[in-house]
Amino acid sequence: MKICIIGSGYVGLVTGACFADLGNNVICVDKEAVKIRKLKAGIIPIYEPGLQEMVRRNIKELRLTFSSKINEAVRKSEVIFICVGTPSKDNGDADLSFVENVSRQIALSMPSYRLIVEKSTVPVHTGEWVERTINIFNKRNMKFDVASNPEFLREGSAIKDFMNPDRIVLGVKSKKASDILTELYKPLNAPIVVTDIKSAEIIKHASNSFLATKISFINAVSDICDKSGADIVEVARGMGLDKRIGKDFLDAGCGFGGSCFPKDLSAFIRISEKLGYDFALLKEAQKINEYQKKLLVKKIEEMLWNLPKKTIGILGLAFKPNTDDIRYAPALDIIAMLSREGARIKVYDPEAMPNARLALSRLGAAKGVEFCKDAYQVSKNSDCLAVLTEWNEFKELDFRKIKKSMRQAAIVDGRNIYDPVELKKIGFRYTGMGRR
Ligand code: NAD
Repeated sequence: MKICIIGSGYVGLVTGACFADLGNNVICVDKEAVKIRKLKAGIIPIYEPGLQEMVRRNIKELRLTFSSKINEAVRKSEVIFICVGTPSKDNGDADLSFVENVSRQIALSMPSYRLIVEKSTVPVHTGEWVERTINIFNKRNMKFDVASNPEFLREGSAIKDFMNPDRIVLGVKSKKASDILTELYKPLNAPIVVTDIKSAEIIKHASNSFLATKISFINAVSDICDKSGADIVEVARGMGLDKRIGKDFLDAGCGFGGSCFPKDLSAFIRISEKLGYDFALLKEAQKINEYQKKLLVKKIEEMLWNLPKKTIGILGLAFKPNTDDIRYAPALDIIAMLSREGARIKVYDPEAMPNARLALSRLGAAKGVEFCKDAYQVSKNSDCLAVLTEWNEFKELDFRKIKKSMRQAAIVDGRNIYDPVELKKIGFRYTGMGRR
C-alpha cells in the first residue's frame, strides 16, 4: 500500500519504517526541515534500538522516503497516519492543535478517496473533530474515512512491539476502512479488535491509565513495606505470580515518567471531567507518582542528614532504560529538588545526556550539575549514589571500586536493581524503594 505518515517522531518513524519493512511504500513527513534532511541521509534523530538499520535498509530498497511537504505526500498515498504530538496543556488537557492543523492540510490536499487514521493518542471525540475539520476544508468534496488506530509500542523496544503487538485496535465507521487496515496489518498475525472510533480512543487512554495506576498501586504498597520492614520485591513477586494480577508493571520505584503516562493520565482525567465524571482514582495515581519523587529525595536526606554542599551522584536520567527520552523523567524533578536543597550533583546516563542537558537548562536546574563520562566518574567523591533509571550497565558495576572512590558509601536505589545484602556486605549503607 501507499502510506503517508505525518509526524516523524518516535511513533511516526517506527510506524513508517516497520510498514516499509513489511513491503509498503511509505512517505514520512515532518514539519521540521532539519529532521527530514537528516532522515533522508539515514541519520536517526532519536535513540531506538534497531531503528537506524531498518530505516537505512528501507531507504535503500526505495520503500521509505521522507518529505516536509504534506500536500505532496497526501496526494501520493491512500492511507494517511496522523502521528503528531498531543502534549499536555497547563490544565492537563491534551493539546490537539497539531492534530487539527494536520487534518486541515490533509483536507486541502486530497485528490480522491483517502483513509485518515489517528495513531496519536487522543481523547474520545477527537475522531469526530477530525472528520468535521476535514469536511469544512474538503472543498472538492472528496470521499474519505476517518479511523482510530492507537499505538501501544514502548520506546526502547518499539520495533519489537510494533511487529509483535498483543493486539491491534481499529476504530472504524465503514467496512472499507476496516478492510484496508485489516489488510495492512495482516502480516503481523496479531489479534485485531475492530470497534467504533470512540471505543478505540478510550481503549488507549484507559490502557495507559490502568498501567500507570498499577505502578502507583505498587509504589503505595512499597511505602507500606518501608514503614513495616517488609520487602516490596518479595511482595510483588508473590502478587505477580497470580495470573489475574501478572508480574508486569509491579516494580516499585521513584515514579513513572515519559511522554505518555503522565500526559495520558492527565488527559483522561480532564476528558472524564468534561463528560461529568470525577476520576478520583486516577488523580490519586498521579498524586502517588509525585510523592515517589519527593520520597526519593527524602531518602537521600535521611542517608546524609543535611544536603547543602553534599555531592549526589545520579545514575540514569532517561525515564526508562534503552531510550534517550527524558520527557517527564523523574530524574529532572529530583535533580531540581536536590539543587534547591543546595546539593552538588553529578550525573551520567548512557544515552540521555544531551537531552537532559537541554531540559535541565530549560528548568534552570543545570547550573552546578556535572555531566560525567560513566558511573565511576559519577561515584568519585560523591556522598551518595541515587539510581533513577534501571539501565543494564548499572546492574553490573564494580562496587568495591566504587566504594573506594566515594566520600561516603551510601546508595539510594530508586529502581530496586541491587541486592541490599550484597551491597551491605561490601560496606554500603543501602535503601531502596520499599526495601532496605
Ligand atoms: P514526537 O514529539 O516524538 O513526534 C511528533 C512529531 O510530529 C514531531 O517530529 C513534530 O515535528 C511532528 N509534527 C508536529 N506537527 C506537525 C505537522 N503539522 N506536520 C508535520 N509534522 C508535525 O511524539 P511521539 O512520541 O512520536 O508521539 C506521537 C503521538 O503518539 C502522541 O500522541 C503520543 O502520545 C503517541 N504515542 C507515543 C508513544 C511513545 O512511546 N512515544 C507510544 C504510543 C503512542
